Amino acid sequence: MCVMTKNKELQVAALENGTAIDHIPSEQLFNVVSLLEIEQLTTPVTIGYNLDSKKMGKKGILKIADKFFEEDEINRIALIAPQVKLNIIKDYEVVEKKLVSLPDELLGIVKCNNPVCITNNEPMKTRFKVINKDAVTLKCQYCEMQIAKEDIELL
Ligand SMILES: [Zn+2]
Repeated sequence: MCVMTKNKELQVAALENGTAIDHIPSEQLFNVVSLLEIEQLTTPVTIGYNLDSKKMGKKGILKIADKFFEEDEINRIALIAPQVKLNIIKDYEVVEKKLVSLPDELLGIVKCNNPVCITNNEPMKTRFKVINKDAVTLKCQYCEMQIAKEDIELL
């Protein structure tokens, strides 16, 4: 690692224990915050927004102290930021690196685009099956409406 990269990483405070999520597209940063329900956490969270990235131009970083996400919690961000990298940190050391992948089912995070779907008319959680993980195609379990990646609307 060159000195410059190291200094850049230090722009965001070092984490003693917790999860660092790197390579978040800047335009998706606050959607990721919302999908991970970070506003409900009580531990310190550092948000790095519009940081310089050689690969991406601008990127976002989240450092979440004392939080280790469950697979299905973290995998939902593959919907909007499939290229993120997760570092699990213990005692200032990266003990595990993870990538995210879409889960088979998405519960309560995507809106159904069918106006007559029961989920748009009753107070209930939406439920989608991921029918194509590469192209990101979802299918509503209630009305069978299929939603392509570009039409996905988060709740
Ligand atoms: Zn539906």
